[in-house]
Amino acid sequence: MFPSNAPSPDKQKTIAREFALQGIGLHSGEACLARFRPADIDCGIFFVFDGKKIPANVSSVTGTKRGTSLSGLHVVEHILAAACGLGISNLEISLSSPEPPILDGSALPFLIGLKNAGIVEQDKARPAILITKPISIKDGGASINVLPYNGFKVNFMIEFPYIGRQEYAYTGDFEAQIAPARTFGLMDELDQLKKQGLARGASFENSLAIGQNGYLNPPRFPNEPVRHKVLDLIGDLSLVGCSILGEVIAIKSGHKLNIELARRLQNK
Ligand SMILES: [Zn+2]
Repeated sequence: MFPSNAPSPDKQKTIAREFALQGIGLHSGEACLARFRPADIDCGIFFVFDGKKIPANVSSVTGTKRGTSLSGLHVVEHILAAACGLGISNLEISLSSPEPPILDGSALPFLIGLKNAGIVEQDKARPAILITKPISIKDGGASINVLPYNGFKVNFMIEFPYIGRQEYAYTGDFEAQIAPARTFGLMDELDQLKKQGLARGASFENSLAIGQNGYLNPPRFPNEPVRHKVLDLIGDLSLVGCSILGEVIAIKSGHKLNIELARRLQNK
């Protein structure tokens, strides 16, 4: 039961109609067609690739290097953030290659596609996790904490070469404040990433590039990178499969710590 002061649980949601988006993967550079279909109550969000169904669940996570991987699918977090930002809990995403299209590097094209497909409420409440005591996870200078809070909010701090420290306090309005924030990267690291088979599809069209004097292409927000980190966090935490009622405080966190928190929350 929910305490009387907690918000009443949201209904489960899906989309009304199927739609598709096409583009290249950020790391693979390969073309991918992503087809989004409505899913029934309690199905959750799941990917379909190569005839296999892969639930968007923290137990499917197989990697957290430069993106969150689920059973061989890579960089799933932007799609998941868009779905979570709209409160969608049941959705099929079938992919023609293992990495979804990066599109403009943000969650906005997915969010617009999902909204245009029509969001429909389903006749069952979405489960929620209520944080009742703090959880704290540390890894060197990075940390992620979640505290009891009667809603959902995030405080994020990052520090990177050339752009310094950025902070953002997220209290809502995912569509305007978070969804448009793009993937970012340091130009200094690009060659190294490419040698590791990563960032092969990266370009000024899908990433905010950071050089020694700051941004190399126009940012959408002065603090776009930290907003993108909030986007990634929301996508990663959605792998818990429920709404989270708590305040997240993240310092230099990334996919590894985000997923560790998702694991702890799922095992609560
Ligand atoms: Zn990202």
